[in-house]
Amino acid sequence: MSTKDFLEKDYYKVLGVPKTATQDEIKKSYRKLARKYHPDANRGDAESEERFKEISEAYDVLSDEKRRKEYDEARSLFGAARPGGAQGGFGFDLGDLFGGTTTGGAGGTGERIGDLFGGLFGGRRQPPRRPRRGTDVETEVTLTFNEALDGKTVPIRLTSEAACPTCRGTGAKTGTVPRVCPRCEGTGQESRNAGGFAFSDPCRECHGRGLVVDDPCLTCHGSGRAQSTRTIQARIPAGVGDGQRIRLKAKGAPGENGGPSGDLYVAVHVTGHKVFGRSGDNLTVTVPVTYPEATLGAEIKAPVLGGQPVTLRIPAGTPNGQTFRVRGKGAARRDGTKGDLLVTVEVQVPKKVDETTREALEKIRASNNGDDLRSELLRMAREE
Ligand SMILES: [Zn+2]
Ligand SMILES: [Zn+2]
Repeated sequence: MSTKDFLEKDYYKVLGVPKTATQDEIKKSYRKLARKYHPDANRGDAESEERFKEISEAYDVLSDEKRRKEYDEARSLFGAARPGGAQGGFGFDLGDLFGGTTTGGAGGTGERIGDLFGGLFGGRRQPPRRPRRGTDVETEVTLTFNEALDGKTVPIRLTSEAACPTCRGTGAKTGTVPRVCPRCEGTGQESRNAGGFAFSDPCRECHGRGLVVDDPCLTCHGSGRAQSTRTIQARIPAGVGDGQRIRLKAKGAPGENGGPSGDLYVAVHVTGHKVFGRSGDNLTVTVPVTYPEATLGAEIKAPVLGGQPVTLRIPAGTPNGQTFRVRGKGAARRDGTKGDLLVTVEVQVPKKVDETTREALEKIRASNNGDDLRSELLRMAREE
């Protein structure tokens, strides 16, 4: 006899007696029914044989005052959850009750209780276990600059907590089931009074589970939990940026009872490149130019990632730090098009110059005589 049997079977109904029946009434009814359905009197009638077994089982429990009390308690606690059940009263369902009192661990105790007492909800024969969405899982990967640009399929090992496969999460040894915790009567909570207020704490006996296991499962030692490891191939799309979070739908923890899987979130780290940088879909590069190139204009070569350098026309009078756009030489976008290459020119100031250059520069300086670059700045600084 198990807690599950207690919850699924209405022994009073089987014996046709009220819940208030005395031992005499129970015995009388049992004898009457046992005679009627006895296998000797109904040879070969499978239905009668089944009824006879039910009657015997019901009598076994109800005729023993101690077991009858356990049975009544289990049913008054859980029987109320049966939709349309005669006892009515409580508004909770078991999934919520235990889900809220679990002391930790992904997935919670709700599913395990759901498994165990599946027969309680929505009628007797179909186990109406509620679908539950799997949890979302977070992980991270590091890609090189080029991998991030091209996209990459990376194997990701996921370790998640799952129900122990041996006991299907009950924590009880094969062939046994946990019983309702006698201390908290299955609520998982015990109340404590302090200064006129009632506090509820997780039950000390069952640690909030609402159930106690007498014979622990040999695989999980009673915890009901197991680690499950799986490797999935995650496709990181081309053009992913450093710090971006990729959502892979339904690649997270599997759902329970037919519920959908959770999502997998992959935080992507992208290592830097010696030459190129990223700005969204665009690649960036800084190209040094000389003062004459910037002043007089020039054709310069700019590097392209994974391709031949492009020739870029710098107009005369290009200021330091000016950025030029080379279309279609950036990072790949989702739609297959590419971003741009942003070329920033940086005017170089030589540390040392040869004699010829010096003479040329001196001439420039002389020609600029009278051009005061800073007078406007200094005038503006004096204004309020
Ligand atoms: Zn307890
Ligand atoms: Zn187990």
